[in-house]
Amino acid sequence: MYILGLIRIGGQLDESVPLPRALARGLAAQKHSGLPLAKVPQNARKASSSFGDDQPGQKHHSGTLDSSSAWCAKKEDTAPWYQLDLGEVGNVAGVMLAARSDCGQWVTRFRVELADSEDGPWTSADDGREFDGPSFANPVRAVFDNGSQLARFVRIMPVSHRNHCSLRADVLLASADPDKPPVIVALGNFSVGDPFEFSTPEVQTDRMLEEQHLAMLQAKLSSLPPKLQHQVASLSTVQGYEKKQLQSQALDEIPVCGLDSSLDSSGGYEIAFMRMLVRWFKHEFFSWTNTPRCENCGSSETKTVGRADPTPEEQHFLANTVEVAACSKCGHQTRFPRYNDPAKLLQTRTGRCGEWANCFTLVCRSLGYEARHVHDWTDHVWTEIFSESNRRWVHVDSCEAALDSPLMYEKGWGKKLTYCIGFARDHVVDVTKRYTQSLEELMPRRTQCSEEELKKALSAISEFALDRSLIQYPEPVAAARRILLSERAAAEATAHLPKVSNAAEEVGRTSGDAAWRARRGELGSSEAAKQKALECSESGLEQAMASDSTMFLVFLP
Ligand SMILES: [Zn+2]
Repeated sequence: MYILGLIRIGGQLDESVPLPRALARGLAAQKHSGLPLAKVPQNARKASSSFGDDQPGQKHHSGTLDSSSAWCAKKEDTAPWYQLDLGEVGNVAGVMLAARSDCGQWVTRFRVELADSEDGPWTSADDGREFDGPSFANPVRAVFDNGSQLARFVRIMPVSHRNHCSLRADVLLASADPDKPPVIVALGNFSVGDPFEFSTPEVQTDRMLEEQHLAMLQAKLSSLPPKLQHQVASLSTVQGYEKKQLQSQALDEIPVCGLDSSLDSSGGYEIAFMRMLVRWFKHEFFSWTNTPRCENCGSSETKTVGRADPTPEEQHFLANTVEVAACSKCGHQTRFPRYNDPAKLLQTRTGRCGEWANCFTLVCRSLGYEARHVHDWTDHVWTEIFSESNRRWVHVDSCEAALDSPLMYEKGWGKKLTYCIGFARDHVVDVTKRYTQSLEELMPRRTQCSEEELKKALSAISEFALDRSLIQYPEPVAAARRILLSERAAAEATAHLPKVSNAAEEVGRTSGDAAWRARRGELGSSEAAKQKALECSESGLEQAMASDSTMFLVFLP
């Protein structure tokens, strides 16, 4: 039933492979990745106007993607266009657009027109569809839904812009080899016993029943400390990851086929894939923001000067707070809304550990990993995934690109942990034990509630989570899932405290700027840990782990 590793399929889909969702993932990942850029040279570019009447190649008429400026239209140009000449007729699949490099100006909506001759006739790509523009940090690939079109001249027609009509652009060509067989990554194999993997389309949930269940849960928790009652909100975050629409948005961003090529499968295929995934997430997908770059002049010399109330739009994407940073160069103030909506985070792709762990846990779920969002009450968050090969939950910290290094916080960062609570879509569990070598030292620090209260709250929330998640499944499927979860829970409860440590666990925190880490007391538990953290600040933990080839082979007794 389950296929391990990669399936290579030429041409038609092989319907005998019982992994429809995994196949869809691989294909989705292939859809946009790997389209080559035409790299149209500067002297083959023209425009309706240019700021300061600059000539192609000069500052305001340098629209190549690697430009340190951009093409900028004249302010009074009411119908701007920017033209790229391929030199000969090519198979145009779309365009790639980026913001101006050296200040916060970009096109927010645009259309694309195509022609064989500069004199026309021009035809609108995708029947005149308006494409979304880039953001300041992230270029956009606009690929035609109607398929690629033959043309020599490509015109980008900005419809709206931010601050000024400026852009960098290039043409995406259809792949030279469209029949290249896709390489499909089958990830379903490690979710054995996970009924969700093979579920039919989303069933309409009964809102009224859901609210009744929630009210019953709240009644059960009502006598407990508020902090425990608030844990229900953390559960609803992970339940949100189950939305199929959201998962498919995440899958569109993950270069699954790109990731598989350098797999080293020691310790289990899913662990090897995770190692690649977390590196990609840290080094290519997400970025860390201490303070945002100035959206006016592009300077990174900004300083947080206060907080602001979120606008209705920011609230819509679940930003409860907005930090305001002032630019030391131009004085402009840039807002940094702390979004909690994972769909929004797939676009902004930046933040601190809250945003990282939120978005990364969604990425894990969308790939079929059973995942937990772990809340450390001393102010950190990370992810755990279930490894079928190793039959246990494995720690993953996306901010640090750290895998299976649970002691890094206590031993490396020097944290004094108290409570670490893991939230999965169908259970909630106290996972503190995995992250400490000494429960005797840790337990006296747990003063926010009694152990009995904690147990009561977590078991009530856990029961609610399981009931909710199984409600739409037939009884035999639900029963099997209950048995599996209770077996895993029993094994987890009796696991010993971690004894081994790998090199990554001896390193202080590497994410965030050094002063910020030092202020939080997380730069390192010892001088050696601090030194290593500073050395690894750019590279992340791979450098520390590079010499440690045994880390994935060391398991708890
Ligand atoms: Zn500025």
